[in-house]
Amino acid sequence: MINQSEVEALKQIIIVGGGSAGWMTAAALTKVLGCNNYSITVIESDTIGTVSVGEATIPHIRAFNSLLEIDEDDFLKHTHGTFKLGIEFVNWKEMGHSYMHPFGAYGTNMHGVPFHHYWLKSQKIQPKDDLLDYCLEGYAAKKNLFSRPLNYPNTPLTSVNYAFHFDATLYAAYLRTYSEKLGASRIEGIVTQINTNNETGFIESLLLENGALINGDLFIDCTGFKGLLIDGVMESPFEDWSQWLPCNSAIAHASESLPDKKPYTISTAQKSGWQWQIPLQNRIGNGHVYSSDFLNQDDALTTLFSNLPSKPMGEPNFLKWTNGKRKKLWVKNCVAIGLSGGFIEPLESTGLQLIQASIERLLSLFPNKSFQQKDIDIFNENADIELKQIRDFIVLHYKLTTREDSPFWKYCKEMSIPDTLQSKIELYKTNGRVFRENNELFAELSWLSVLSGQGIIPQSYHPLVDNTSTENLHIQLSKMKEVVRLCSKKMPTHAEFITKHCSAS
Ligand SMILES: Cc1cc2nc3c(=O)[nH]c(=O)nc-3n(C[C@H](O)[C@H](O)[C@H](O)COP(=O)(O)OP(=O)(O)OC[C@H]3O[C@@H](n4cnc5c(N)ncnc54)[C@H](O)[C@@H]3O)c2cc1C
Repeated sequence: MINQSEVEALKQIIIVGGGSAGWMTAAALTKVLGCNNYSITVIESDTIGTVSVGEATIPHIRAFNSLLEIDEDDFLKHTHGTFKLGIEFVNWKEMGHSYMHPFGAYGTNMHGVPFHHYWLKSQKIQPKDDLLDYCLEGYAAKKNLFSRPLNYPNTPLTSVNYAFHFDATLYAAYLRTYSEKLGASRIEGIVTQINTNNETGFIESLLLENGALINGDLFIDCTGFKGLLIDGVMESPFEDWSQWLPCNSAIAHASESLPDKKPYTISTAQKSGWQWQIPLQNRIGNGHVYSSDFLNQDDALTTLFSNLPSKPMGEPNFLKWTNGKRKKLWVKNCVAIGLSGGFIEPLESTGLQLIQASIERLLSLFPNKSFQQKDIDIFNENADIELKQIRDFIVLHYKLTTREDSPFWKYCKEMSIPDTLQSKIELYKTNGRVFRENNELFAELSWLSVLSGQGIIPQSYHPLVDNTSTENLHIQLSKMKEVVRLCSKKMPTHAEFITKHCSAS
């Protein structure tokens, strides 16, 4: 039997990189591990800088805030944050069409059968019945309304599900202040050399440009796309997913704020990619994500500027990446968190979520100095499953287009897709079923939103639906829509809610 006191605990944790990944990791580790028994150090370089994008989130970030015991209003004030109830996809299925991926549930399940099967039956009679009218988050979003959950029992108001938009640079700064208060230390400097043990290959120390030598037990690589440690000395190869995710470039540019703050992200498909619109309190974040195989940078910039919702502010930020992941995110005593571990383009705002998931995984498999290979393997296997599931969900948006107006969309429509995704699409096409596998990040409602939003009409629906008469079905569905409509009347506008609770001014 292992005697816990004989196993040497690790003490020095070195985080290299001070972008969102570095400071989210520092914040969570200082909070959970504390700085009495551990020393937690972030090395970052102002000269190198951060990607400074990553403004939209998904609701899981609220669990991260809870872990840190952050006051939500305070955090939103400091980051010019707004609320997000979903994403609207414009021109993805075809030009002039739009749909939403909201964060809340649609309707109510009946007799153990998911709601959407009833809706699928009703669609056969009333094809124009909008799925969004059954989801409070989606319905309210389109009317620019927002509220946190309200105490109206047995209504969807009790469980309003939401995420945030915020300024990514201010978010990292906020978490830096948080971490330093809890005892994390920060070193400004550039890592120029990584020293490993000749026998084990474990990292022992880092040499900085100014000559300082930083020793550590556990090294967390948050150095962004370059993956200084995980690629540099751990040589974890990169799996390239460009064949399924051709968008590999972006230009981000802010524009002036507008009075009607939308509580949702807008993603508008362009000729060779798509453009985001993210309303913050003080500005609108915009960005054109495109494939450099189909569009050059000058034309991408022209498209971005022609579609800005308001007057431009500041300078454009040019970004390039390869979609994919490191084969192993944890090797020996080095864990890659953030862009260093992999990146899937930002269509569903999953970047910060992947950081959060890696941190949670690291905490639950937290090592001692013996670094058990079994723990490392589980970490890597779970990261692999999670990233592939997210990849499939993103590819779905592209594959299901009916657009043929540009070589880019023709490529997306005709490209081969992973088998895992193909079988999910087939299942839905056949009988409307959607299954969540292995606790995957995007649940049934997300898959349903995109599958139906992109225009897939299943051949049939759950057979038990026919136990409900058509007349009763219509009565039930009308009642559900009425509940959503009445609930929305209890919600203030998004702008009013921000002014009352978390105005940055
Ligand atoms: C176009 C685009 C849009 C995105 N949109 C979203 C979104 O809406 N929502 C979302 O959740 N995510 C989004 N993401 C992802 C998100 O931006 C990242 O996941 C997040 O910012 C984490 O970045 P990072 O900290 O890993 O890397 P970076 O921000 O690049 O930070 C790297 C850090 O490493 C340091 N560093 C590098 N080399 C050295 C060295 N040699 N010595 C010392 N320090 C070093 C740098 O100084 C910096 O502090 C987007 C990404 C892109 C590219």
